[in-house]
Amino acid sequence: MDLAANLRDIQTRLRAACDRVQRDLASVTLLAVSKGQPPERVKAAADLGLTLFGENRIQEGKAKIGLCPSRLRWHLIGHLQSNKCRDAVHFFEMIQSVDSLELAREIDKWAEKSAQRMPVLLEVNVAGEANKSGLSPEQLLARLKEINALPRLEIYGLMTLAPWTPEPEKARPVFRRLRELKTECEQILGAPLTQLSMGMSGDFEVAIEEGATLVRVGTALFGSRPAGASPTGDRPPFGALQS
Ligand SMILES: *Cc1c(COP(=O)(O)O)cnc(C)c1O
Repeated sequence: MDLAANLRDIQTRLRAACDRVQRDLASVTLLAVSKGQPPERVKAAADLGLTLFGENRIQEGKAKIGLCPSRLRWHLIGHLQSNKCRDAVHFFEMIQSVDSLELAREIDKWAEKSAQRMPVLLEVNVAGEANKSGLSPEQLLARLKEINALPRLEIYGLMTLAPWTPEPEKARPVFRRLRELKTECEQILGAPLTQLSMGMSGDFEVAIEEGATLVRVGTALFGSRPAGASPTGDRPPFGALQS
């Protein structure tokens, strides 16, 4: 797999999507999803100029981050268990997968202990899929003020995973709904939210057309993940070893 060629292709697609809706290319950030990829591949991607990377499991991220160039920035994008919040706060610049009030409280607690603030996104299960985590839109709006009141947490915006489909157009209503939810949240909070994390390898162009500011791209950049690597989505497969 030629990383440089893949990246050029992604950038062409990014630019075309921005052009279609008259958005500034600089308003979209490409987050390279490095789950299932060894540190050497991350270094190769960093050499091409990428600086923002995403991991969906604490154990894997923790092991990898220390082996990668220290100037890189890391976001946690997969479901976080409460007992791993300490590491999440320590290793990641942002946690994109805050999916309950309880988890938000636990993250706040560990951020307080390490005397820092923790940027987060609230993950929304827009399509109500049973196998995905995330707050339902109703829960999001109901719990928002309480989550926002946690002193160490900084809510930057919302994140979602669209249902898998070979036709990216089918994801559009989900992305559009997330954008509307962001506006509803801004009204509740009386303050702007800057980030909408949505779109992956198969659907990031549609996500950009609907307002994504962060697109999380794995396979289109690195090629397919080695067998046994974390699946797309956020929960380990049923029966998988829990570390
Ligand atoms: C794996 C993953 C991605 C990237 O998926 P690709 O289809 O490989 O681009 C994005 N977001 C999350 C939360 C993921 O788990």
